[in-house]
Amino acid sequence: MGPVALLVQKFGGTSVGDPERMRAVAAHVARTVRDGNQVVVVISAMGKETDDLLRIAAEVSETRPGREMDMLVTAGERKAMALLCMAIADTGIEAESFTGSQAGFLTDSTYRNAKIVDVKPSRVVEALAAGRVAVVGGAQGVSPEANVTFLGRGGSDTTAVALAHALGADSCELYTDVTGVFTTDPRIVPNARKMEKISFDELLEMTANGCPKPAMRSVEFARTHGVDLHVRSAFTWETGTIVTKEDDTMEQAIVSAVVHDADEAKVTIGGVADRPGIAALMFRALADSNINVDLIVQNTSDHGVTDISFTVPHSELDAALAICEQHTADIGATRVKGDPAIARVSVVGAGMKSHPGVAATVFETLAANDINIEMIATSAIRVSCVVAEADVQRAVVALHDAFGLADGPVYVD
Ligand code: ADP
Ligand code: ASP
Ligand code: MG
Repeated sequence: MGPVALLVQKFGGTSVGDPERMRAVAAHVARTVRDGNQVVVVISAMGKETDDLLRIAAEVSETRPGREMDMLVTAGERKAMALLCMAIADTGIEAESFTGSQAGFLTDSTYRNAKIVDVKPSRVVEALAAGRVAVVGGAQGVSPEANVTFLGRGGSDTTAVALAHALGADSCELYTDVTGVFTTDPRIVPNARKMEKISFDELLEMTANGCPKPAMRSVEFARTHGVDLHVRSAFTWETGTIVTKEDDTMEQAIVSAVVHDADEAKVTIGGVADRPGIAALMFRALADSNINVDLIVQNTSDHGVTDISFTVPHSELDAALAICEQHTADIGATRVKGDPAIARVSVVGAGMKSHPGVAATVFETLAANDINIEMIATSAIRVSCVVAEADVQRAVVALHDAFGLADGPVYVD
């Protein structure tokens, strides 16, 4: 009898946070194998080890060369994968660990945030053929110069999806500490509901706007290559959320989720001359310095001058302000101001494409809660508002309630 299925199972840091959790994961892998499946595991560093490694590096060094940082942070996954193989061996099943390089993850040389160029998992295939479980260290690969590279924070999700694609796996299961993808962050809204199913497009909007799970790059990869995902719990093992392509038979929820992102800061350039080329000059200068500008708003001009505001990640605020100040004379600006205490709240739903009134309900809900909107942005399936950081949790709770998300989705007729 051939195998039932080829499964990629990825376990996040909390799922393998201590020896007991390691053994629980090993038992689950063993169960899956005994049911007749072939299993490839992708593992993250235990608990908060990646954070700890980054912290100690900051204490040891000011320069922190990229090559050495990647060698350091990938060590967390390397320890975890060996430990998991030992725990699996105790169940009587053979398992073999592989670094990203050994598993055939070829990347570029962008240390700290390397991109996957190709996946050639011949050693993983051999291990499976020999009846073993393959355990692959997440978030790592090897550069053309044969240096170890790190795929960036949350990179283990990307490892899992890319491996599932390269192996033609039947399913890519992302195990975590919640039971699936929720209608909003369950830490903020206790009655947030686990979704049974969500489309790639909606999940991509969620992850691009603050939902930490799964990592955005992994969702992009899954969408591009059509790798269905199953986000589920490594604690209760119950069925989680299926992420798949939207098809005609899938009912479209008007609003599926509310997400928020507190990692935002706002820059306002005031008194800018209202003539062609000003925005071009400013945003070219920001782009050339690799500043990730997100939401941009320009006011209607008044007497030939206007204000331009935009958001950047917190960590890029100081650099963005410095660049704007360098260019104030060129663009005729009178002032540059930074505000780190903002956050973005967004509602996402495929059904809003054909259902008017979602934006109006968002604005009414925020108004009823006395929350001021500083900026607004939309896509076909998202409405986002920038609000004061102090108001964002209240905004999430109010919007989740206003769209009745705890009770189940409202579908487009
Ligand atoms: P892992 O370590 O397993 O890769 P993370 O810790 O990065 O996972 O992310 C999981 C956490 O994301 C959960 O504990 C949950 O609190 C949080 N989270 C925030 N928003 C959501 C959401 N909409 N759905 C599911 N989880 C969410
Ligand atoms: N351990 C790494 C991190 O915490 C990679 C991952 O788990 O995805 O970002
Ligand atoms: Mg985590």
